[in-house]
Amino acid sequence: MDITNLPIRKINTLFSKKELKPSELYSQIFDNAANSEASLHAHLTLFEDENIKKAKESDSRFDSGTAESLLDGIPIAIKDNINIKGYKTTCSSKMLSNYTSPYDATVIKKLKESQTLFTGKTNLDEFAMGSSTENSAFGLTRNPWNTDFVPGGSSGGSAASVGARSSIAALGSDTGGSIRQPASFCGLVGFKPTYGTVSRYGLIAFASSLDQIGPITKTVDDSRIIFSAISGDDPRDATSIVNNQVDIPSGKSAKIGVIKELMEDGISDEAKNEVNKVTEILKSNGYEVKEISIPIIELAISIYYLIAPAECSANLARFDGVRYGLRVDGNTSYEMMENTRAEGFGKEVKRRILLGTYALSAGYYDEYYGKALQARKEMIDEFTKAFDEVDYLISPTTPTQAFKAGEKTSNPLEMYMSDLCTIPANLAGLPAISIPTGITNENLPLGVQVMSRALSDHSLLNFSEIIEKEIQFNQQPKGWV
Ligand code: GLN
Repeated sequence: MDITNLPIRKINTLFSKKELKPSELYSQIFDNAANSEASLHAHLTLFEDENIKKAKESDSRFDSGTAESLLDGIPIAIKDNINIKGYKTTCSSKMLSNYTSPYDATVIKKLKESQTLFTGKTNLDEFAMGSSTENSAFGLTRNPWNTDFVPGGSSGGSAASVGARSSIAALGSDTGGSIRQPASFCGLVGFKPTYGTVSRYGLIAFASSLDQIGPITKTVDDSRIIFSAISGDDPRDATSIVNNQVDIPSGKSAKIGVIKELMEDGISDEAKNEVNKVTEILKSNGYEVKEISIPIIELAISIYYLIAPAECSANLARFDGVRYGLRVDGNTSYEMMENTRAEGFGKEVKRRILLGTYALSAGYYDEYYGKALQARKEMIDEFTKAFDEVDYLISPTTPTQAFKAGEKTSNPLEMYMSDLCTIPANLAGLPAISIPTGITNENLPLGVQVMSRALSDHSLLNFSEIIEKEIQFNQQPKGWV
């Protein structure tokens, strides 16, 4: 078996037993990248040379028995909206094409403390706005299972990189599904933790009340290992919280709800079948499974597309040609700003800024943004009620399998619909995970999503691991390793 297919714990054991060196794994990872990058374009930057020295240092730690972390020597790819000191952070935008970060994001600081090796920065939809990685100013990323198809988005580069084994795991960010949806499209595990458990310091903001960093991995345990390493309260992020986990049952006494509104029209039969397959297995193992209705989910996309653009219009106001990134001159400072923003931002980003500015403007605020906030509160209440009845909520991760590149680019509303199942967890701040469960007729993977109450991330991971073991997905795209 190829070593790049192995889960992190197993690799760590091989390192400890001196049967494999971190530097050997590292060079295998870059061989895989050399095989796949021209076809997939998962990365915007690859770091090989500068990290060979670090890989050798990792070799020495295992040689002398001083390696302490499970992530020591593990090659991890980072979405290019997360700052690593001394490297470019472009957010796949012309606006930041020459921006080099002067500091490390908190998650990067933590991974450095764990002696993780970074493999490179991965492609994304510009400023994480999109569901297909086609909104990148630097070219699209393709799905490692079939290059005619998109890898999902916005963390499509991270998912394609793990899928093609040009990294062992990757970090993504999830505002409305950008970790889970690409994970589902690429046959991987994607985990969005409880809002606030992972610091957003150093993640370039899209919609601050929804953004959350998390892992894209091959296994649930790999996600657990990375989550443990990157989570924790951070004084630099005012919305970060102490990661005081609550325990809920994951064994047979756990109660499971299937979300009624996410098993209706608009969801493909294939996606529903994956959910049914999982619930049948759970029932036959003695779990109680019932249908749960969360009626407000039908409004999730409308709520999200007011709140996310409103926050993005405020967050992206900082890109004004003065402080960061691109500057396009003009005769006055206003003209300079206008020229800079006209040239620096792509179409989707401009659409969101316009939408958000409109929703926040005097006279419309109460009618749009204010109403969306009320509906968001109602959604949180409906989830709280649902979790009085059940411990975990199951749904498809995505309404369909991956779609073809170009299929939805001319219809933004259709593109927005692909986030129907993932957005509710962001609006309610809940932990949610996508687990790969099956392969469609067109030989593309599909996943199932599980959600649980806030701060029950570890229980959610334990429960997901039970599903993972029962399903035995164990498949990978061919041709890259
Ligand atoms: N696809 C959604 C959007 O376009 C979610 C993106 C994300 O989670 N970053 O906003």
